[in-house]
Amino acid sequence: MMASKNVLVGQGLEELAELMAEFGEPSYRAKQLVEWVYRPVAAIEQMSSLPLRLRDRLMRETIYHPCSTVTVRRSQDGTRKYLLALQDGEHIESVYIPENDRSTVCISSQVGCQMGCTFCATGGMGFVRNLTAGEIVDQVLQVILDVGRRPSNVVFMGMGEPLANYSAVLRSIKVLNAPWGLNIGIRQLTVSTCGLVPGIRKLAQEGLGLTLAVSLHSADDEKRSRIMPIARIYNLEELLDALHEYAARTGRRITIEYALMDGFNDSPEDAHRLTEILRGLLCHVNLIPVNPIPGGFQKKPRDSQVARFESWLRRGGLVVSIRKERGADIEAACGQLRGRWEGV
Ligand code: SF4
Repeated sequence: MMASKNVLVGQGLEELAELMAEFGEPSYRAKQLVEWVYRPVAAIEQMSSLPLRLRDRLMRETIYHPCSTVTVRRSQDGTRKYLLALQDGEHIESVYIPENDRSTVCISSQVGCQMGCTFCATGGMGFVRNLTAGEIVDQVLQVILDVGRRPSNVVFMGMGEPLANYSAVLRSIKVLNAPWGLNIGIRQLTVSTCGLVPGIRKLAQEGLGLTLAVSLHSADDEKRSRIMPIARIYNLEELLDALHEYAARTGRRITIEYALMDGFNDSPEDAHRLTEILRGLLCHVNLIPVNPIPGGFQKKPRDSQVARFESWLRRGGLVVSIRKERGADIEAACGQLRGRWEGV
């Protein structure tokens, strides 16, 4: 069971003001407290501008960090992968990816996932529960405590389908973006979905303008259904319709994730079909040579095949990039570290 104590991470200025009023503290304490919460520090006792009696009470009656770092694996390329424990004993993963003058934290939105994509280690675990907004935000704070600086970007690409945990994800986005929170620009926040059409439409209407990434992986409904069960519920026509709406309402370029799998979705016909269905959509395609999981049928394509596929898409008029593999020596693909820890 989750502890019933008040959790500080995930709360906004208004909620902390209510808490301080409940504690009988002057109103300026809320601002002091929110600054400490998201600075962050490791423990309440380090919030040195708060009086000792208030720190004591906060320690007794609240939980500051809902996550604790269990292990950090460091890759030779600077990538760090975190296994975090939650208050109820569940585990999640987050990844820190430094790159030149920017850095990205990849966070989880659920424990496990019910979407069942066949190429994904998390999908094979099944669904356990949604994360709270505090648990989502705290993943970024745990990384900051370890690396000593704020990331420039945060991507919801770890364990879970963010749009299946809509309200907690939205709340966490507000905290990550708020000037009193982590103050990360809305354009630097990316939500990645496997294609939950109602969630995409809802997000379009929020008027937030965050970056949307969509796992497409095939431009053919039948083929897509074989690797992504969600495609049996929302077909490509419905998905593309929602993406056009998102781009039109937000003016943001959508990232189309395409995991290239040798012999499955890397033919000239696959490339042609992809250019056809994306014509007219404000988007760019991110090609990802698939990272095969144990027991999966997917095979990694050769570099030359990836380059060929990229050139076919470019010739078709698409904007394309190839995602560099990061942290291969530390099992950075999502779900792998938790699987090893829990023996699943
Ligand atoms: S790829 Fe994403 S949506 Fe699909 S099973 Fe894995 S975590 Fe879930």
